[in-house]
Amino acid sequence: MSAPYEATSEWAQARDAADPLRDFRNEFLIPPHENGDSHYFCGNSLGLQPRTARDAVNAELDYWGELGVEGHFKGRLPWMDYHEFVRDHLAEIVGAQPDEVVAMNTLGVNLHLMMVSFYRPTPDRHAILVEAGAFPTDRYAVESQIRYHGFSPTLSLIELEGDEPNGTISMAAIERVLAEHGSRIALVLLPGVQYRTGQVFDLKAITELAHKQGCNVGFDLAHAVGNLPLQLHDSGADFAIWCSYKYLNSGPGAVGGAFVHARHARAALPRFAGWWGHDKTTRFQMGPEFEPTAGADGWQLSNPPILALAPLRVSLEIFHRAGMQRLREKSLQLTGYLEWLVQTQLPDVLEVVTPKEPERRGAQLSIRVLGGRAQGRALFEYLIDNGIIGDWREPDVIRISPAPLYNRFADCLAFAQMVRRWKTQT
Ligand SMILES: *Cc1c(COP(=O)(O)O)cnc(C)c1O
Repeated sequence: MSAPYEATSEWAQARDAADPLRDFRNEFLIPPHENGDSHYFCGNSLGLQPRTARDAVNAELDYWGELGVEGHFKGRLPWMDYHEFVRDHLAEIVGAQPDEVVAMNTLGVNLHLMMVSFYRPTPDRHAILVEAGAFPTDRYAVESQIRYHGFSPTLSLIELEGDEPNGTISMAAIERVLAEHGSRIALVLLPGVQYRTGQVFDLKAITELAHKQGCNVGFDLAHAVGNLPLQLHDSGADFAIWCSYKYLNSGPGAVGGAFVHARHARAALPRFAGWWGHDKTTRFQMGPEFEPTAGADGWQLSNPPILALAPLRVSLEIFHRAGMQRLREKSLQLTGYLEWLVQTQLPDVLEVVTPKEPERRGAQLSIRVLGGRAQGRALFEYLIDNGIIGDWREPDVIRISPAPLYNRFADCLAFAQMVRRWKTQT
């Protein structure tokens, strides 16, 4: 049994002082507010800047200045192999074998590239299953792929509605839709963590059910990577994609990632090809025949943006030192505290939408403001003005995500106290 939570600064400060991960906060730039730090809860949208990011980018600018084209082969981390310098830590963070992952492009681009290979509709099996209310990019991408193959979203897009009170989706509902429509579903595309509700999906259980029906399975891990310990290889999923600017703290528009399961490493899958996906050993013979590199690397198109990979590399080093398991342990406590504060101190103002079972959520709580949209907006703006940084989702939800690398118990308490101050004033 852990000590019960308390809504006092003494308690929160003592918990922060006893936190074995407390020093990691010093490795980040915390946006200032008035006379101190803001309380930043937006790691689900744009993670904070690691202090090492600037030097990492500057080092590559220096090599470019000093070495020119020779920077591809010289310098501490030659550009020719640069994406490989992030590979091991990336594999570690998503629970994959090193050759199953690649840092490349951005999420939306990777989603399309993966669908080129893993959405192969036939007259009998042409549907894609997504969750209702999927992130716009995901929805636009699947609709456009369905149309691209000559099918119609009306018939080929299946959107699974939430069957639980706050719009979350039970495993039973996933089982039902696959039992009913599995034979016509070509691809199941679900999130690791749903961006609106904060619900966590069971990747392995979903993959097993979907594979039993003969469907391919891909996951969008935008809100899961760097948030939850993942076991992508063991999940058996065919592919996954993610971005790196949310919990992975790699900067605005950071280089995204993709996972392709090892069983497809040498499969002759159709794909959109580019020279960087060509077999590394013969790439520079510049031959006309495309021979893909085995593994996820074989989906690369272009030589990677080194200046954008540099922050990802140093950010992943931080995760490696902290360890996803330890981060998750702290995250359960932090988010548990935030939930407890909302439930015990603010039941007249707020209501948590995210599942209450800790194993069914990550860092984020989606919090509905009681009393409708106008009330919600007023509170949200008050919080921002007072240095409590969350984000807003229509019509009445504030997302608050304590990130275990840099958030403190004291931040959660500051959020609750500020909400109370607003309520008292209105
Ligand atoms: C953040 C997010 C995206 C963003 O896609 P980009 O291509 O990186 O702009 C897409 N899908 C989901 C589910 C997201 O949460």
